[in-house]
Amino acid sequence: MKLKSLVINGFKSFADKTQIDFQDGMTAIVGPNGSGKSNVIEAIRWVLGEQSAKNLRGEKMPDVIFAGTDTRAPLNRAEVEIIFDNRDHYLPLDEDEVAISRRIYRNSDSEFLLNGKQVRLKDITGLMLDTGLGRESFSIISQGRVESIFNSKPEERRVIIEEVAGVLKYKKEKQKAQQELAETTDHLDRVADIVDELQ
Ligand code: ATP
Repeated sequence: MKLKSLVINGFKSFADKTQIDFQDGMTAIVGPNGSGKSNVIEAIRWVLGEQSAKNLRGEKMPDVIFAGTDTRAPLNRAEVEIIFDNRDHYLPLDEDEVAISRRIYRNSDSEFLLNGKQVRLKDITGLMLDTGLGRESFSIISQGRVESIFNSKPEERRVIIEEVAGVLKYKKEKQKAQQELAETTDHLDRVADIVDELQ
């Protein structure tokens, strides 16, 4: 799987539609302070399902929409699209190219699209979990993150290692199965009570 391109439109300082095509090898984005380098990384985090406005240096999610400048009116909508080359089928989808888009409006309405079809946030986070691009992964290291990993508690560090090792997905599935099992046991107890009452 390879990051092919990123299209940013109305997100933070990117008022105009901006497309970044990633070539083979390493890509470096350079620019003066405040020119929007971190905003590019935040666009990637956001389109992959970031749920915390704080992690994107905002108060609430619509803060990611272009807020206007002295010469330009604010926008009402932000959209980011990320396109992966998936010819190796690393993402478990029967598609050679995978495009994920996220949109948000000023009233906080938002939507995710996977190859043009509307999906839930859960579908995106599920797809990314254990790919190395999940929420707790090391592939996006923002400023200050290195210090926070060093200073984190052993349990918090364990979550990071589990994500890297690819077991987090199974742990979450296990938790879900255990919860369903507990609910089914409750239902069975209830059925047993009713049977007792009827006998
Ligand atoms: P540095 O090198 O100092 O880390 P940077 O190149 O990473 O800077 P960013 O932090 O990505 O720059 O960009 C900051 C700029 O983005 C600021 O000028 C800020 O006003 C602008 N910005 C952030 N959010 C919005 C928004 N919602 N609307 C318009 N501009 C925004």
